[in-house]
Amino acid sequence: MDDFPTYPSGLRLADRRVVVVGGGHVAQRRVPQLIAVGADVHLVSPEVTPAIEGLVGSGEVTWHERGFEDADLDETWYCIAATDDTAVNEQVSAAAEARRVFCVRADDGTKATAWTPATGRHDGVTVAVLCNREPQRSARIRDEILEEMREGTIAAPKQRERTAGVVLVGGGPGDPELISIAGRKALMDADVVVADRLAPRELLGDLGPDVELVDVAKLPRGRSAMQEEINRVIVERALAGKRVVRFKGGDNFVFGRGYEEILACREAGVPVTVIPGLTSPVAVPAAAGIPVTHRGVAHEFTVISGHIPPGHADSLTNWPAVAQLGGTLVLMMAVENAPRIAEALLAGGRSADTPVGVVCDGTMPGERTVLATLETLEARLAEEQVKPPAIIVVGDVVAVAHPAAFRGRVAGEGRTGAPSSGGRVAGEGRTGVSRP
Ligand code: SAH
Repeated sequence: MDDFPTYPSGLRLADRRVVVVGGGHVAQRRVPQLIAVGADVHLVSPEVTPAIEGLVGSGEVTWHERGFEDADLDETWYCIAATDDTAVNEQVSAAAEARRVFCVRADDGTKATAWTPATGRHDGVTVAVLCNREPQRSARIRDEILEEMREGTIAAPKQRERTAGVVLVGGGPGDPELISIAGRKALMDADVVVADRLAPRELLGDLGPDVELVDVAKLPRGRSAMQEEINRVIVERALAGKRVVRFKGGDNFVFGRGYEEILACREAGVPVTVIPGLTSPVAVPAAAGIPVTHRGVAHEFTVISGHIPPGHADSLTNWPAVAQLGGTLVLMMAVENAPRIAEALLAGGRSADTPVGVVCDGTMPGERTVLATLETLEARLAEEQVKPPAIIVVGDVVAVAHPAAFRGRVAGEGRTGAPSSGGRVAGEGRTGVSRP
């Protein structure tokens, strides 16, 4: 066309007809973005990818299952020619030109009347980057800008809308990379961060100097006294107009007393939102290469807190019933009571050679896995001097992950005569595994 630069503009396409011609991978990338901005998306193509078919099935796209006709662009605001047939794309371009509809060309940008920038959103800001038909460079620049926004290097803090309140943020199992983008953003936006011992601590190093950090590990001892103090602190700071992040390991609702904090906030009229975290009973075994379910092996997993031993008056767990389950058990806060729990499971009928994998300091630099059976668990924990935090996985999935250590335990596994030092599995790279 010409050598002029493009004129950037943010199109507001909600409820406006947008036509995508072609049903392949280019369309598959563009259509969700159009749906996200509320466009009335019409897709013209004799065939579509399964992913697009899914969007058609859920009613988010209207599919015209045939070849392109010029009249498809009547009453249209915007169109994308995304077929792999140059002649068809040419026809779409011409029909668009005649109707003064801006048209993107997937095959040849020089013939298009509009270009799609590399885009991303963060914190209510849309970033759109257009280099001169160098899509990879655009994408890289877009990524760098978004990354810096997430890190807070680009933040324009004075312009940001900041509403006071409490955000419960789940920090994931320990590795600072495993927090969600939303969680990270809430941290960067906080005026006050109330952090637990198990919350990924490295992330606290990124907080600005003016952010108040309340370390829960340093609050008065005793479970209820401490919780009351936390409730008091978050409510008081929020009422003073601050943005408070309650920062925990894993997910705040999984043995995290998160809902007690929600109730305290509600009672005080403080707005509170929740950002879920990757919870350790699922994430820690996963990182250590132990699947909590496996086809043909375990069709259920049951997560239990072991902080109260079986038989204790305060116990809410029906241990005899748990012992009857055939699937995976994931025990948390259970290092101290593990011998009593193993005893209860054996008494209830689980077999003595049931595989057990204890993952200590999951996703953190010192991560290691101690293998045992229900019978040897107590001795193995003592031998290996296992200390919390640890996740204890009980069941045949442990043998799936470590076939050489539990030979013959799972049908078809562990009988290959592999040397007992073999059997590397996903996640084992940083894990010291010690055999039962
Ligand atoms: N809210 C947290 C759990 C808090 S209870 C979550 O959703 O994950 C604390 C227990 O979680 C610990 O005793 C331990 O059993 C488990 N845990 C948490 N992080 C862990 C980690 N990185 N490695 C092993 N176990 C972990």
